[in-house]
Amino acid sequence: MIRCYLGLGSNLAAPQQQLQAAVNALSRLPQSRWCGSSSQYGSRAVGPEQPDYLNLVAALDTRLSPLVLLDALQTIEQEQGRERKERWGPRTLDIDLLLYGNQSIDLPRLKVPHPEMHWRDFVLVPLQELAPDSQLPTGESLAPLLATCVDTHLTRVGPPLTPTD
Ligand code: AMP
Repeated sequence: MIRCYLGLGSNLAAPQQQLQAAVNALSRLPQSRWCGSSSQYGSRAVGPEQPDYLNLVAALDTRLSPLVLLDALQTIEQEQGRERKERWGPRTLDIDLLLYGNQSIDLPRLKVPHPEMHWRDFVLVPLQELAPDSQLPTGESLAPLLATCVDTHLTRVGPPLTPTD
């Protein structure tokens, strides 16, 4: 099994229900094991004017290959009504593959570590809560990234989510 970290976000259509449904779907993925989530965090949106986000980071152990896992994550997004309209626009559910073990992946469809995770407090803070010893494939730890990331007025707004079915 490879330990993966996923960044989840929602700012439309009852975000907490969206994240709970996504957690349930992730826990049902084949050849994978749900390993827990961070607390839920509220963050101000980056990009066009839109509602605040609800974010969390989830840990998953999996035997799925990176692209098969990406397909599965995109299927979950689509099942929860995601429409791709504008970059950084509002969305019912966004799931980013942040880390896949200690692998660096540079494919047209998939870049790991997620290329924007290093500046996103709404990724780094929940990741540090869930897995404080996380490192990027380069060996870089989270602390220097946390010191320089963007401030989205992140606040802890709820406990970790666990699968409910
Ligand atoms: P977004 O609109 O932010 O959800 O971006 C989705 C696009 O990013 C998809 O076309 C993915 O193929 C691509 N992508 C590249 N790297 C990643 C990653 N690490 N996690 C999720 N999507 C990725």
